[in-house]
Amino acid sequence: MYLTVHGATAMLIAKSFPHPLVAFFLGLLSHFLLDFIPHGDEYLIKKHFTRAQIIKRMFGAAVLDALILLGFLAIFMWVGPIVKLPVLFAALVGSLLPDALQGLYFATEWKWLKNFQYFHVSIHNPTKHPLNWSQGIMVQCLILTAIWLVTIF
Ligand SMILES: [Zn+2]
Repeated sequence: MYLTVHGATAMLIAKSFPHPLVAFFLGLLSHFLLDFIPHGDEYLIKKHFTRAQIIKRMFGAAVLDALILLGFLAIFMWVGPIVKLPVLFAALVGSLLPDALQGLYFATEWKWLKNFQYFHVSIHNPTKHPLNWSQGIMVQCLILTAIWLVTIF
């Protein structure tokens, strides 16, 4: 799922659970729960892609996604509920860590990340009915909207 959806969930967690360690682990748990929902990210990588193409595609998507997340974060800090910054930081780190490790794995192919990468990929699309891009965007926008409305008010 997009970093923006995971990050918005982290903001909701930071609003609801004021302890940094709890926020970190709930952020981490939320990542896997959200990735479990079919969300159409499969189109980002095609089986015939080279490693360089995968890195280029993932980096491009991650940069755009991170910029959108920063916009949501700015709005949250500006008009959202008051939260402690260490709690918000912990929730963001927990919720974004799996995708950061995935990016690190794509870039380095470090063996110690291989089992984690396998687990992370395996929780995606348990129904084995991949969504196309527009269906995935629709699902992620609906989830983001629901999370954002609960977070900001
Ligand atoms: Zn993920």
